[in-house]
Amino acid sequence: MHETSDLRSDTVTKPTEKMKRAGMTAELGDDVMRDDKTTILLEKTAAEITGKEDALFVTSGTQGNLLALSVHSEPGSEIIMDEQSHTFVHEQGGVARIALCQPVTLPMKRGMMDLDRVREKVRAEDIHHPRTSVIECENTHNRAGGVPLEMEYLKGLRRIADECGAKVHMDGARIFNASVATGIAVKEYAAEADSVMFCLSKGLCCPIGSILAGPAEFVAKARRMRKVLGGGMRQVGFIAAAGIVALEEMVERLAEDHRRARVLGEAVAGMPGLSVDLESVRTNMVYFSVEKGPASELVERLAAEKVLCFAEGDNRQIRMVCHKDVDDDDIDRAVEALKKAV
Ligand SMILES: *Cc1c(COP(=O)(O)O)cnc(C)c1O
Repeated sequence: MHETSDLRSDTVTKPTEKMKRAGMTAELGDDVMRDDKTTILLEKTAAEITGKEDALFVTSGTQGNLLALSVHSEPGSEIIMDEQSHTFVHEQGGVARIALCQPVTLPMKRGMMDLDRVREKVRAEDIHHPRTSVIECENTHNRAGGVPLEMEYLKGLRRIADECGAKVHMDGARIFNASVATGIAVKEYAAEADSVMFCLSKGLCCPIGSILAGPAEFVAKARRMRKVLGGGMRQVGFIAAAGIVALEEMVERLAEDHRRARVLGEAVAGMPGLSVDLESVRTNMVYFSVEKGPASELVERLAAEKVLCFAEGDNRQIRMVCHKDVDDDDIDRAVEALKKAV
């Protein structure tokens, strides 16, 4: 049994032994000079999986999103995103600080904005107006409970972007979770966006890193911009090697995380004092509401029972995330702890 049941995030996953060995034995070189064969192989593999011309290994998902939004936009333009998106809520306003763009936000439902409202937000050409440069979507959508986006929605965003000459960027931090849950290939999702970012460091268990994929010209610009942000890395094959292992053998096991999240969600659904929208439990997360808040107090009581998680959403919700380092016993412990602590 694990010392604690750590349901805070899939970012806490430790690399596998095979990943560590792959790093130790990887062929290395200076990647800023494009001498690192391991990183080049990871990028090539990621480009194939996403169906894009090229891909770039970046330090984090935040960096990948920022690069994409910077490259797709011009200063003073607008980026449409939902108001619960990671980019709007969790990236310290990088879009404003570094890409020099203004975010335009809309509410979302199940991770999706209303397409008519998106269309209304697109700017008409006028000397007074900023231009609409990018529309962003998040797949899976974290704050909507980790739900995969519907293809129809993605096609709708694509159409709107094409009509106005904007780009679509997909924050696909957990796109592999979406793909495993729905059976829709990563490539198929990515085809509806100009660029896609995904994290290696979450459910795929790498210690560090994300991927940004898109057209070759876009990736070349992102590579230059990554250097501006201090993200030009040298013998980075040392960590990219883990990414290759992740893409080869850590994807299918995400289904186990989804199964455990479902078990946990259904248990929570039966508990007085808590409520969960089971339709939102589609991948590896369970968001549930605490009737008698604040949620942070329940989080503390759970921690005393060795169950770790975070309070969210105005301190009225709790998020629990399943991942490689959470097993069936951890789920049992979480359920027992909740029964005791609520
Ligand atoms: C985690 C996450 C990111 C960014 O990841 P970091 O690697 O932590 O910077 C971006 N988008 C979503 C939806 C995420 O969950």
